[in-house]
Amino acid sequence: MRIAHGIYMLEISANIMGTPSIINPTLIVDNDMVILIDTGFPGQLSKIKEAIEGEGVSFVKLNMVILTHQDIDHVGSLSSILEELTSGVEVLSHEEERVYIQGDKLPVKVAQLKTHLSSLSNEMKEIYEKMKIFYANNSSNVDRTFSDGQELPYCGGITIVYTPGHTPGHICLYIKHHKILIAGDALQVQGGVLIQAPQASNFDTNLSMSSLKKISEYDIETVICYHGGIYKVDTNKRIKELANG
Ligand SMILES: [Zn+2]
Repeated sequence: MRIAHGIYMLEISANIMGTPSIINPTLIVDNDMVILIDTGFPGQLSKIKEAIEGEGVSFVKLNMVILTHQDIDHVGSLSSILEELTSGVEVLSHEEERVYIQGDKLPVKVAQLKTHLSSLSNEMKEIYEKMKIFYANNSSNVDRTFSDGQELPYCGGITIVYTPGHTPGHICLYIKHHKILIAGDALQVQGGVLIQAPQASNFDTNLSMSSLKKISEYDIETVICYHGGIYKVDTNKRIKELANG
């Protein structure tokens, strides 16, 4: 779905713990730059490829992947994308996320499950095992890292907004010219309502609240949420409401 000039929200069908759902990576195209933000679950390469081509963009032109964070639904198909595109794709994330994506440290959600292993349901134990095996076998190199406030020179300027909470190095991306926020998992849309990601899914609740306050200082018309898609109704007002708890 085209959101603005050069900015597309992809819609990838997925099954989240037995529930059919849609996840929304973002595609940014600016001259010879083709940037994918987040890479879906493991095994979704063909769906991602199809979604990119569906926007009239050639998949082989993809030359940059930005990861909002380390969770499996965001880094899942990164290694297969990199395998497929031998021409060189630059991978970027916040500096705090690098060790997890590269497999140097156990990802935070896996580590959290590990601490509660004895009290987990069989279903959750199975998910833990699958995630552990996935991360052990699918680490990818992060070529460059971001720090807070860094600007990328595409689409008139994209600001990296460091928004820890959901994970230690979560980022959102703000496209000033279009007043678009690519929210990753800092926000989601549920039943047409913009909400914060469920606290149980956050690594650090307090940090996620202060990150919301930080987001609320930006002038935002459109939010692209990875879970739930587009939100554009009185957006600034809604984000301020959420930030004030
Ligand atoms: Zn997610």
